[in-house]
Amino acid sequence: MSQKATTNSEGTHNHAHRTRRVRRDWLYKESGLLNVTLTNCIVLQCVSCSAVTPVLPDIHAIKFPIAEALVRQSGRLNGAALRFFRKSLEMTSDEFATLLSTTRVEVSRWENDRVRMSGRRELQVRLEVIEKLLPRVSHLASLREEIVANMTRDYSPTASVEPIVIDATPFYAVTGKAAIATY
Ligand SMILES: [Zn+2]
Repeated sequence: MSQKATTNSEGTHNHAHRTRRVRRDWLYKESGLLNVTLTNCIVLQCVSCSAVTPVLPDIHAIKFPIAEALVRQSGRLNGAALRFFRKSLEMTSDEFATLLSTTRVEVSRWENDRVRMSGRRELQVRLEVIEKLLPRVSHLASLREEIVANMTRDYSPTASVEPIVIDATPFYAVTGKAAIATY
């Protein structure tokens, strides 16, 4: 077994090895976040070398539970989380800046962890995400109250990235409709 794993720049397995389709945990770094693990993710595992290629679930459907989990985080959000929100909202930095009455430069500083946004600002971001991205969450009102309560009472000024674990199984539906229906 001296053969090297040969993956191209896209990370796909591009040689003649056979792969096996397995379901396993996958650290979902493709989302731009480093704290999201998908359980039951379909992964093509090479039978001859160490190459693994994920078959990602419907990324436009799975962004909703991830966004909800981020909104519920008890510590301050980091830049990666803010970027995930902005991209999930399908907004440019300019649009996101306008939404928050700030500048694109400031948005960039937040997303790159050069400046931490104020707690008040972060609360505004979380409420916008609930409003615009999670409008179909059935417990919306209580979620909003929960976030406001969490962020106004004894709120930790430090970012603490909590692990998020999402079962990918329902997000492999052909159209994603089944997955989206609950959001
Ligand atoms: Zn291989």
